[in-house]
Amino acid sequence: MRIDVLGVGFDNLTMTEAVSRGAALLEEPGCHYVVTPNPEIVEVCRENPAAMRAVNGADLVLPDGIGVIKGAAMLGTPLKEKTPGIEFAAGLMGKMAERGRSLYLLGAKPGVADLAAERLQKQYPGLKIAGTHDGYFKEDAPVVEAIRESGADCVFVCLGAPKQELWMARNGPATGAHLLCGLGGSLDVFAG
Ligand code: UDP
Repeated sequence: MRIDVLGVGFDNLTMTEAVSRGAALLEEPGCHYVVTPNPEIVEVCRENPAAMRAVNGADLVLPDGIGVIKGAAMLGTPLKEKTPGIEFAAGLMGKMAERGRSLYLLGAKPGVADLAAERLQKQYPGLKIAGTHDGYFKEDAPVVEAIRESGADCVFVCLGAPKQELWMARNGPATGAHLLCGLGGSLDVFAG
């Protein structure tokens, strides 16, 4: 059962449980996606029904930051702990590296995803980087096709909210990946 915070249903998991669930989704047939809303994204969703649908349609909805945790506690339905997207991503990459799974990095300004790929490859030697693409493209189709051709198991979609949530809901299955994660500014952080 999800915990409702102003219309967004959050999964009530510890970070360890969230990473295990993400790793399990990666192995399941079909396409799944993860979102990590903070209070600003909850606000955006309240104004934007399509964004709300995309967020609540995710297979994992993780509270990114203390604001959502405080909100849930105030509403009398506490969540176990915050599960920031960037930490979730780190845990998931650890699991992917152990299993030799491949990751596609989508988003941020030109050059950033390549730099992130280089650094992540060093940090997680078993991880395969399937490809990268910047986040400033006009049409979805060529990007979806590039991901499909790369054969990536997982895609980090870092286009900012709610663009990334809408993108994953719309294009996830066509990418052929088992798991997509909407991770905001994470590529900028991974690129250092
Ligand atoms: N971004 C992008 N395409 C866009 C708009 C934004 O790739 O059309 C990228 C931007 O370069 C940045 C990330 O999306 O790397 C959004 O970061 P921000 O910290 O603003 O988002 P948040 O983490 O708050 O959702």
